[in-house]
Amino acid sequence: TPTTPRLETRSTCCYCGVGCGVIIEHDGKQISGVRGDPEHPANFGRLCSKGSTLHLTMTEDSLAVRALYPELRKQREQPRQRCDWHTALDHAAERFASVIREHGPDAVAFYISGQLLTEDYYVFNKLAKGLIGTNNVDTNSRLCMSSAVAGYKLSLGADAPPACYEDIQHADTLFIAGSNTAFAHPILYRRIEDARAAKPAMKLIVVDPRRTDTAAEADLHLAILPGTDIALYNAMLHVMLWEDWIRPDYIAAHTEGFEALRKTVREYTPAMAAGICGIDKKDIEKAAEWFAHAGDASKATLSMYCMGTNQSSHGTHNNAAIINMHLATAQIGKPGAGPFSLTGQPNAMGGREVGGLANLLSGHRDLAKPEHRAEVAQLWGIPEVPEKPGLSAVELFDAMAAGQVKAVWISCTNPAQSMPDQNLIRQALSQCDFVVVQEAYRTTETARYADLLLPATSWGEKTGTVTNSERRISRVIQAVPAPGEARHDWDAALDFARRLGNKLANPHTAKLFPYSTEQEIWNEHRESTRGRDLDITGLSYAMLEQQGPQQWPFPSGAHTGKARLYEDGRFPTDSGKARFVVTEHRETAEKADSKYPIRMTTGRLRDQWHGMSRTGTVARLYAHEAEPLIHMNAADMARRGLKNGDTVRVKSRRGEVILKLRESESVRAGQAFMPMHWGSNAMSGLGSNALTIKTFDPFSKQPELKHAAVQIEKY
Ligand code: SF4
Repeated sequence: TPTTPRLETRSTCCYCGVGCGVIIEHDGKQISGVRGDPEHPANFGRLCSKGSTLHLTMTEDSLAVRALYPELRKQREQPRQRCDWHTALDHAAERFASVIREHGPDAVAFYISGQLLTEDYYVFNKLAKGLIGTNNVDTNSRLCMSSAVAGYKLSLGADAPPACYEDIQHADTLFIAGSNTAFAHPILYRRIEDARAAKPAMKLIVVDPRRTDTAAEADLHLAILPGTDIALYNAMLHVMLWEDWIRPDYIAAHTEGFEALRKTVREYTPAMAAGICGIDKKDIEKAAEWFAHAGDASKATLSMYCMGTNQSSHGTHNNAAIINMHLATAQIGKPGAGPFSLTGQPNAMGGREVGGLANLLSGHRDLAKPEHRAEVAQLWGIPEVPEKPGLSAVELFDAMAAGQVKAVWISCTNPAQSMPDQNLIRQALSQCDFVVVQEAYRTTETARYADLLLPATSWGEKTGTVTNSERRISRVIQAVPAPGEARHDWDAALDFARRLGNKLANPHTAKLFPYSTEQEIWNEHRESTRGRDLDITGLSYAMLEQQGPQQWPFPSGAHTGKARLYEDGRFPTDSGKARFVVTEHRETAEKADSKYPIRMTTGRLRDQWHGMSRTGTVARLYAHEAEPLIHMNAADMARRGLKNGDTVRVKSRRGEVILKLRESESVRAGQAFMPMHWGSNAMSGLGSNALTIKTFDPFSKQPELKHAAVQIEKY
């Protein structure tokens, strides 16, 4: 007999950056169902396979994989033992305090997550930068969006996606670069399908080395060689200049730096770029024509891009090169136009809003600017915030391996699977003197390195806010109680902060952490945005619940948020003008050679999320792909005497994995594709990131997780 849900709670899906609204069906104790919220402007009631099975991750059986009570080991060689929260947090505070006393504040660090809520993020950021006096707080968003952030700031002056989802239906050309939107942002892809059905003349260009499900639907698929994005975009701009499809009036009035870029792209003829990118020069010319609409200023182009653009050792310039094309053709600040980064995680945006990266401060302030440090110190009521930049993700684990960071607190993320060059990461975790892991799932690869495992609440059990790809803030609302002794991430961090402050005799402790609810934390964050580009002083928890999710900026006195930015042609740079950035083609961090001849790329599958801690518990989600497989072209397989289904050894300069092979025509000769989701639980070796490289972009410090040179042989 079907059970009728007695209660319903409006909340937000916890997976990707589309940020779909959900209605949780429950009885106050147990979640029994989930459906799309028809009133949420991100999804209007739709959910993808992951969102629509969220309730199946919250069954009573799922408790078997949850962390339910704190566990502590005082010596590495001992197993962890259950303990109470007081013992756990007091021990953590004492260990952190003793490291800080002996080695200084930069010997401790926090590595947090784009899946935390904004309120959690705010407390961690203040704990590190306000109480301890270190900027060593970085997040897995560094692996995800930091090149998009650096690209926006370099070109447009602020970390603010200028477009919105509605622009999809207003666009005449959609330019998707480095994103398998059909798999990674499925509900946004439904919008793309709807828009194309309603407007058959709309052009879809997809730039991707693989013929993904998204690329297969394109009017023009540019199957570029991995890492050659800039050569393509410079050549497209070259064609636009040659054909006089640019907008000199817009360039003169609203931008600077065009002459230097013009000189650079003069060299990037379509023929020259075709040789670098491995695509036909006619396709480059066609892409330029469709992007610039052959000079028709009434038409609009929207670019959407994601990890294939960002996870590169030149990811910032990949982003800037796309933005260059938008500025040169005035395809920005009008309906249907603009560069639009798709956020990977549900709250990477919210994390940046509170300054949750090693180089940022609250309210999109920059650590490098003395006036911004002074503003934050004043907001927090402390003499100063530290000036020295903190360690970004890769640097942080390097510092742990080198013995410089001696205590780390990891929250809501699984670096022992998600960071590149896993052998080094695991060595770093083993060498760090004290590792705290705050997790909802006791089964993650990182949990085994925890000296202290702290149980955390998860989706359906916690309250706060998240910001999606289009700058829209949605409420996340608790429906059922926390399981076991799990606590909210912010609540445990706050308790720890107070204990640590007392042990360090920090006189500002009570003043820094006066909260007892999420709303009090959020209200302080809201105040920190006053007068900033993301000003949300016109919003409140109650208003977001009554009037629904809202886009920033939404300053006090406003009646709506802003759907799109830069409509007046003014940009948040010192001069008020957007900046052209001179971008040049550069190789991937690692070239293929005779020993490692295959270029391996990595990416998502449709029905799994990140390291599968949650989606991996739902049997139905394995129907699409049951196991990890490396995809390879038939010609490459024949050359090696390999057959479909063979077990193969895949080896890079850093590690190896053993898994099964699938023949796939979606991958070009000389390339292979491995899904990112599985770790050592599903294959021999440490997952795809046993193979990837830690080399990072010099601006964003985002590592090149998308590409590694490998050899593949029969096992
Ligand atoms: Fe959740 Fe993203 Fe799917 Fe929407 S598209 S239901 S946010 S995973």
